[in-house]
Amino acid sequence: MAADFNVPEWVKSYILCWADRLHLEEWEIVARLELCVNDDPSVRAAISVTNNIHHASIVFRADIEDTPEWQRTVIHEMLHIKHEPICQMVREVILLELERPTRRLADDAYRNVMEQFIDSQTMLLWRLAECVDNPEPIKASENGHKEASV
Ligand SMILES: [Zn+2]
Repeated sequence: MAADFNVPEWVKSYILCWADRLHLEEWEIVARLELCVNDDPSVRAAISVTNNIHHASIVFRADIEDTPEWQRTVIHEMLHIKHEPICQMVREVILLELERPTRRLADDAYRNVMEQFIDSQTMLLWRLAECVDNPEPIKASENGHKEASV
């Protein structure tokens, strides 16, 4: 069977949903699938951006499925797009002022910190979205107040 490189509908609508939630309406975001991303089978997705025209493309590994892990991958990449203006400023204003060996070290350190930050924000947003998208049934207690079932 030939590999299916059509972007699944749930990915397209999830990207639109998170573009709205993250206020990325000025961005044009396109998605595509590849068998292997960045020549590394362990990489699930990657973005490339053109800041001055607010264009971003996200490449997802072709085995993407509608699972919590892959949903978080979509949110993670959307957060990279959200933070791209900060990353661009760090690259162009701060890192370029450094001499080469220091610049490389500072670039690696910045990327590590940003990656950890985006991972933590991804988990937070995914959990909040789960509560919003799948609210627990609310039942009325005997005194008339509403309380969430636990
Ligand atoms: Zn990342």
